[in-house]
Amino acid sequence: MQWVKDPICLSCGKPGITVYSFCDACHRRSLATTQIRAATLHVDPVRRTLHKMKYEGYFALADPLAELMIQAWSRWQTQIDMVVPIPLHAERKRQRGYNQAELLVKAIRQSLNWDCVPEALHRHRRTTPQVGLNINQRQRNVRGAFLANEGIVTGKRILLVDDVCTTGSTLDSAARVLLDAGALSADAYCLTTVSGRYDISKS
Ligand SMILES: [Zn+2]
Repeated sequence: MQWVKDPICLSCGKPGITVYSFCDACHRRSLATTQIRAATLHVDPVRRTLHKMKYEGYFALADPLAELMIQAWSRWQTQIDMVVPIPLHAERKRQRGYNQAELLVKAIRQSLNWDCVPEALHRHRRTTPQVGLNINQRQRNVRGAFLANEGIVTGKRILLVDDVCTTGSTLDSAARVLLDAGALSADAYCLTTVSGRYDISKS
């Protein structure tokens, strides 16, 4: 596997820049997440293993994948009060039988002492899968997809967890509603990040 190696973009956490700074994409935008970080690059064998876990029903693979996130976490220990997996829409969760982000958090929380609070965020609008969409389409697709539980998130430093960070649009959209609902900060941690010339239409 390929761990994410320094230097990385201070905002989206993607490697491929020469010094610690902001990548080209983050120079042009302002993400609602303070920092996004990932354990490994979105390449095989992790990419293939994640695909099996997510789409082929091998949910037990969440454990070894979560182990990678536990190992990489020690490089980046940000201050957080609660951990919130990116929710799936109820209908999609029913079809798949589980939410891959939630499985990852469940497999990690004991080792890292995370307070996991899935009820903090709700996906109330069903969105088209992001696969095959470009960055603008992705932003439009997930805009307004989430609702935050104000009573839970107000005054809290939140860590969002997802399986993959492609353009960061989903995490950004979720972070915006958390901050609007009174959260102090919203960081994000993913298993993998899509980097470099990898074609985002495939992820
Ligand atoms: Zn960046």
